[in-house]
Amino acid sequence: MARVLAVANQKGGVAKTTTAHSLGAGLAELGERVLLVDLDPQACLTYSLGIDPDGLDRSLHDVLAGRAEAADVLVKAGDLALLPSTIDLAGAEVHLMSRTGREHVLARALRPLDAEYDTVLIDCPPSLGVLTINGLTAAGEVIVPLQCETLGQRGVGQLLETINDVRSFTNPDLAVRGLVATMFDGRTRHSREVLDDLEGRYGVAVLGEPIPKSVRFAEAPGRGRSILTHAPRSAGAEAYRAIARLLHEEGSR
Ligand code: ADP
Ligand code: MG
Repeated sequence: MARVLAVANQKGGVAKTTTAHSLGAGLAELGERVLLVDLDPQACLTYSLGIDPDGLDRSLHDVLAGRAEAADVLVKAGDLALLPSTIDLAGAEVHLMSRTGREHVLARALRPLDAEYDTVLIDCPPSLGVLTINGLTAAGEVIVPLQCETLGQRGVGQLLETINDVRSFTNPDLAVRGLVATMFDGRTRHSREVLDDLEGRYGVAVLGEPIPKSVRFAEAPGRGRSILTHAPRSAGAEAYRAIARLLHEEGSR
C-alpha cells in the first residue's frame, strides 16, 4: 500500500511545490516508486517537471470530474510519475462543491494506483478550499512547509484546525508528520534556534534540518528539474535528501 503524504500550507510561496518535487526526487533516488499529484490549478509542479500544462489534453481535472481514470491521465517525467494539473482544475473547485462525497473524490481516484507506488506526494494549492480538503482526505500524513522568516503568521494554527476538522469529518487517522523549515537564511539565525522555535510554537516536530535559501532553487523549475538534479551537490539538495532518507527509512520499516 502506498504511503500518501499531502504537502500543505494555505500560504503561497512557502515552498510546498519545491518540497513535494524535491522529496519525490529524493525518494526516487532511494529506489522508491513515486507518484506526484499536482492539486494546484496554477500547475507549478507540472511545469517544474518540464511538462507544459497547456499541451495536455487531459489532467487531474478530468479525473476529479469523473471523466477519466487516474491511470489514463498519468504522465512520466524521468523517474517520477505525475498526475498533472491545468488551469481547468480551478473549475473543479466549483464542480466538486455540488457533489455528495466531494471530499473523497481524490482519495477514491487514487485507490486503483495504490499498489503501483511506494509514496504518493500531493502538492496542495495555497488555500483551505475543497481541493486541499481532498488532498488531506486522501493522505495518511501531512507535511507542512514553513518559510523560516515569516513565523509571525498565524496561518499554521489555522491549518492545524483544518486538519482537525478533516480528522473529525473525513479522515480520522490523518497524522501531521512534521514541518519542513524552508528558505532558511543562516546568516541571520542559527538553525537550532529556528527548529526549537517552530517545535515550541506549533507542538509539531520539524523534519530534518532547515532547507537553506539559495538561488539554485529558483533556477530549477525553468529547466524542468528538481534541485537534486539541477544542483546535486548543493546544500539545498542535500537537505531535502536527508529528509527523504528519513521518510524512506520509516516507510520501509
Ligand atoms: P509554494 O508551492 O508554497 O507556493 P514554491 O515551491 O512554488 O512555493 O516556492 C516559491 C518560490 O520560492 C519558487 O520560486 C521557488 O523556486 C523558491 N524557493 C523554494 N525553496 C527555496 C529555497 N530554499 N531558497 C530559495 N528559493 C526557494
Ligand atoms: Mg505551489
